[in-house]
Amino acid sequence: MTTSHPVGEEELAELRKRYRQERERRVRPDGTGQYRGAEAEFGYYAADPYADGVPDRDPLRDTVDVAVVGGGFGGILAGARLRQQGVRRVRVVETGGGFGGTWYWNRYPGVHCDIESHVYLPLLDETGYVPEWKYSPGEEIRRHAVRVAEQFDLGADALFSTTVTSLSWDETAEEWLVTTDRDDAFRARYVITATGTLSEPKLPAIPGVEKFAGHTFHTSRWDYGYTGGGPDGGMTKLAGKRVGVVGTGATGVQAIPKLAEDAGHVLVFQRTPSSVDVRGNRRTDARDVGADHDGWARERRENFLRVVSGEPVEEDLVADGWTASAGLLEKLLPSFRREGDRETFEAAYEAADAAKMNELRARVADSVTDPATAEKLQPWYRYACKRPAFSDVYYPAFNRENVTLVDTADTHGIERLTEDGVVVGDTTYPLDCLIFATGFSVGVSGVLSGKLPVRGRGGVSLLDAWGRQGPRTLHGFTGHGFPNLLQMGSLQNASSVNYTHILDEQALHAAALVAAAEAADAVLEPSRETEDAWLAEIREGAPDHEWFHAECTPGYYNREGGGRANVAAYPHGAVAFHALLRQWRTDSLDQVLTPRAAAGAR
Ligand code: NDP
Repeated sequence: MTTSHPVGEEELAELRKRYRQERERRVRPDGTGQYRGAEAEFGYYAADPYADGVPDRDPLRDTVDVAVVGGGFGGILAGARLRQQGVRRVRVVETGGGFGGTWYWNRYPGVHCDIESHVYLPLLDETGYVPEWKYSPGEEIRRHAVRVAEQFDLGADALFSTTVTSLSWDETAEEWLVTTDRDDAFRARYVITATGTLSEPKLPAIPGVEKFAGHTFHTSRWDYGYTGGGPDGGMTKLAGKRVGVVGTGATGVQAIPKLAEDAGHVLVFQRTPSSVDVRGNRRTDARDVGADHDGWARERRENFLRVVSGEPVEEDLVADGWTASAGLLEKLLPSFRREGDRETFEAAYEAADAAKMNELRARVADSVTDPATAEKLQPWYRYACKRPAFSDVYYPAFNRENVTLVDTADTHGIERLTEDGVVVGDTTYPLDCLIFATGFSVGVSGVLSGKLPVRGRGGVSLLDAWGRQGPRTLHGFTGHGFPNLLQMGSLQNASSVNYTHILDEQALHAAALVAAAEAADAVLEPSRETEDAWLAEIREGAPDHEWFHAECTPGYYNREGGGRANVAAYPHGAVAFHALLRQWRTDSLDQVLTPRAAAGAR
């Protein structure tokens, strides 16, 4: 059991120095260029191991009310909320072979939700489902995604194993033409994009990947055919095998203990250790979570959002590692900075952060018997530099004789692969199997990267319309020149750690916009002036991240050490943003409605 003690100025100065050294040891000149996507000759890393073949079907040429791009929780929630608004023909198009998005793809052993399931799983009030664990296994979450899709009858019109390849606005018909990689070319009055933020697996762009003679795959495409077993373990085919894992982020932390149970030997190639806090997962029943009245889940979810956003609550209902450390994670929100000047706030923040990180470093020392291994597992950066992880089985796994930690910080990660295995420094580590727990490209899916080309009024491409000034939207959803196109995701709105809550509020908003446009026989499109006003609002009061990220080790939070991603967000947090959206729907929704020119043509 570890407790934190107050941290004095001398210790803080030492920590600052150490954090800077650790950052410098890791920053690479190639930044985000150190990675490659799982595409082209590496496309096999992204192939779907879970789909039971690709169903044969004829290309579609019909018309629907709404096309939803993406069948993860974003797309499912959009579909559900549209149904509640009475929209009939909703077609979800999804690359995977079924609903679930990240929970469809991520089935690695040990996969769990690391947010409390009673606030993470959406539409619990509507489905009557009460999760069985405080932190659900991935399969329970995937099944819930399917449950919601079934309840709202989204399956019949859905297209699986299908990727949308373009969206083009037909000015005359005032409809979108949607094409796919299955030769579909169907029409939709509205399009909602819900393509996810961390959905495309990435790999280190190191030499020799193609030479490695052993087996290899990415954690989000787990090859149970090779390992045997399933997400609960039982990977009997790994007995006697030497298995390497690259990456110790939230995924690696969950998968490594399960691999350690079943593989002959596990070699963990670590570059930056995660901070790993207490998990305390347990079975729950309805009484534990207050599931005894209508609306219990909505109340709990709202309570969690308020706590992690620094808004006052009478009681912290979830009371876990996220709510306890909310002030360290969301420190940039004004709600956490109400008192004192900036200097006072930053000093208090730094001291609290140091105390927390000391506690987490002590947890490693308490859990890992070999002092040299324990030292390598200790995180030397501020709490919010990397996504915190939670596990009660990760550190003990390193006490097993069949687990070896290979630190790769000094070589900036694994350097190359040979036919036999992984090279780090002067050593080659022979392996039968190498598993990449190396995460996902950020912001490359959907319209943001141009991978899904969008042409609006006058055939103008969305990325050209945005130009060098970057994205322009109203509230992150709609854009001038792109009528009836609604984007879900983290662009120019507000986010939070419980991302399904964010998506549900977005889905409610998108569905309300579609319903209003239908009722008014209008198209949805903000004026340039409305967009300008929103951009000004989110830029004004945008927090200064520099002081914080300057000392952070590289990772996807700070574009591999290069600074914060250049996508402005609403600066007052998700609670305030949701209130703003509700108010706007009451007062100002009319400003994005224009009578349909083609109204008479239907
Ligand atoms: P991350 O991007 O967080 O981690 C990738 C890991 O790979 C890092 O440890 C990174 O090291 C390492 N790495 C990359 N390249 C190399 C290299 N060349 N040599 C050695 N190591 C390398 O990916 P994850 O899949 O772990 O997590 C991604 C996100 O998915 C999480 O942040 C979280 O948002 C989400 N997630 C959520 C879960 C949930 O339960 N809700 C569970 C799992 C994931 P370095 O840090 O040095 O770059």
